[in-house]
Amino acid sequence: MDRTILHCDCNAYFASVECLFRPELKSVPMAVCGDPEMRHGIVLAKNELAKACGVQTAEPIWQAKRKCPRLVVIQPQHGRYAEYCKKINAVYAEYTDQVEAFSVDESWLDVTGSTHLFGDGKTIADALRKRLREEIGLTISVGVSFNKTFAKLGSDYKKPDATTVILRDNFKEIVWPLPTRDMLFVGKAAESELKKHGITTIGQIATADKERLKRMLGKMGENLWECANGLDASPVRRIGEVEPVKSISNDITFRRDLKGEEDVRAGLLMLSDQVCTRLRRQRLYGSVVHITIKDPMLHSITRQKRLKEPTNITADVFATALTLLFDHWELSAPIRMLGVGVSALSGHCGDQISFFMDDEKKRRAQKLDATLDTIRERFGKDAIQFGSILQSDIKHKKT
Ligand SMILES: [Mg+2]
Repeated sequence: MDRTILHCDCNAYFASVECLFRPELKSVPMAVCGDPEMRHGIVLAKNELAKACGVQTAEPIWQAKRKCPRLVVIQPQHGRYAEYCKKINAVYAEYTDQVEAFSVDESWLDVTGSTHLFGDGKTIADALRKRLREEIGLTISVGVSFNKTFAKLGSDYKKPDATTVILRDNFKEIVWPLPTRDMLFVGKAAESELKKHGITTIGQIATADKERLKRMLGKMGENLWECANGLDASPVRRIGEVEPVKSISNDITFRRDLKGEEDVRAGLLMLSDQVCTRLRRQRLYGSVVHITIKDPMLHSITRQKRLKEPTNITADVFATALTLLFDHWELSAPIRMLGVGVSALSGHCGDQISFFMDDEKKRRAQKLDATLDTIRERFGKDAIQFGSILQSDIKHKKT
């Protein structure tokens, strides 16, 4: 039997929540924007009037204001959004115990087991829309389908406050003409790779040769082919069920752009230290190190390297991240954001000699890590820091 899955997406979530507190904002073009002081000055959400002026999510404030000089800019109140998220999910939980959050304002619901109580998928979707509108004052768009990918597409298909049903007998008409970018997990990079091969719609992914897609995009190509053909079998998790950690990463958008070796060393050490501290706290080791670099024009690259054995030693991850950066980045080019991550996680470390260090050096590096961990546990995470980071002025804010 087919599953009945809903994807519920709040419309203009941050902006709509702000309007509940300040109804006068409904009658002016308004956008919730990140803090320009911290270089996060982009539009996070906008109301209908701002949308009518052409204001777009993720564009810089200055650009939005040029389109719409009367635009009222509001700072985000994340506490409020989390609070409303709880209220919304409490309503979802009345219909099923399989509610999986995708983000603060999007959730999947598997209602297969409750259709005999509440009616079919569309009936439940319409009931949810009505209840959230009347009880909480927010509108949602809902996609109803037999898998998570199509349910998500359905919630994007028509908004605000709408239900879209995508079934086995109509998915080819509805889904296949859509651009590849509309499908979950197709980012800019995958979109342009597919385009290079003449693939611009989801239908073209579905009818392409699976092996060819695999050669183009690796494992992801295979997944996309399956999803485009309605074969996404991934389950909706139960409330409270957490996904096993697949990778641990941190990134930093710097207050000023990084330039030159001294800056990138300080930045990468800071990130490697944060990531490895988290790994060690969870007693995990990782075999793949990846870095992400974003320039001031917001172009980014990601590169990765597999280690000979799993590690959680800061010096190991730092050395690998530094090698990756030296190999793939022109040092004189400015960097706006850096990220370091470790994946292919396991609970076991390697016993062999570390990639970058002999035995003695490795022992010393582990001892240093253990000392830092102990001091931070007792006196807080800012109690001790590497000298090169303290001396650097690349003040940061976590993104
Ligand atoms: Mg939304």
